[in-house]
Amino acid sequence: PPLLGEGAQKRLVEALSEGSWQRYPDPSASRLRHAIAENLGVTPEEILPGVGSDEVISLLLTAFVRPQGKSDVATVLTTTPTFVMYKLSSRCRGLRVMEVPLDQDWDLAVDSLRSAIAFTPPNLVFIASPNNPTGNLMSPDRLEQVIQAAAGALVVVDEAYIAYAQRDQLDLYRRYDNVAILRTLSKVGFAAFRLGFLIARPNVVAELDKVRLPYNVPTPTQRVAELAFTELASDVSRLAEQVVGERSRLASKLGDLPGLHIAPSQANFLWLRTERPAAQLYESLKERSILVRSFHGRGGRLAHQLRVTVGTPSENDELARALAELT
Ligand code: PMP
Repeated sequence: PPLLGEGAQKRLVEALSEGSWQRYPDPSASRLRHAIAENLGVTPEEILPGVGSDEVISLLLTAFVRPQGKSDVATVLTTTPTFVMYKLSSRCRGLRVMEVPLDQDWDLAVDSLRSAIAFTPPNLVFIASPNNPTGNLMSPDRLEQVIQAAAGALVVVDEAYIAYAQRDQLDLYRRYDNVAILRTLSKVGFAAFRLGFLIARPNVVAELDKVRLPYNVPTPTQRVAELAFTELASDVSRLAEQVVGERSRLASKLGDLPGLHIAPSQANFLWLRTERPAAQLYESLKERSILVRSFHGRGGRLAHQLRVTVGTPSENDELARALAELT
């Protein structure tokens, strides 16, 4: 995973050394909310921090679950393949999950999504863009059509990988009341601190605040996250630029290999279609101590796909050498 520069690492340690650890965290994470809001050009009342996006997802699934229409249970709509927590967290709570497959270019299948929405109006819609594991941004016009079709739901656009993308989707949040944006610091060098947040209308944030545990975000996390949006914001951008540079270098190296097809990526990983079964490549890479993500257990079109995270230049060279021998 990406690592911040030495200066930034030092600053983090310094900030963490100034603690009065006997006190509870600020329950409203006020300074952090202000820092995020200022950085993004929204108000602090539109920011809900949580212990990773994972916690924010679970808060949404706790707050927005009054069954709609004639349903006996709340419904969550998402795509497949995508980040698994939308489904897992929903199932744990006994909610109904509808998964609509992405189309052949891993983009939103708008007609199918519209049918699903008409069939069972969802409470919540989760769409990751850039998507994990496919790495692509959803087409803006398609995303907008889904937002319009799901007017009775809150549509959560998960921008976990947005630091690596060419554009964000805040504009949809500004234009549609039923849109919220989910972000995290986990993909830009701060995974250990667990800080995710939702950008949403103040009334949505207020509802989530009611179901949130009072001291959910620990003080060290609040401090470090505040730095990420202020003093260290340029270090974060620099890190993202480096990864994007490595991503294109790795993509062109792998793109030259026969038997591999690389989808354009807007994230910190590549999505490879493999002519050989992905399971075989996964095992052979593992024997060389290179761990990639395979989805072969799910079968179908995923049996020929691998997700590989962009590493350091030497890790990427090693991966390219290994794949050159194996494909
Ligand atoms: N959303 C997406 C699309 C992800 O891929 C991930 C992590 N794999 C998350 C959210 C979870 O992030 P966090 O560490 O903030 O809980």
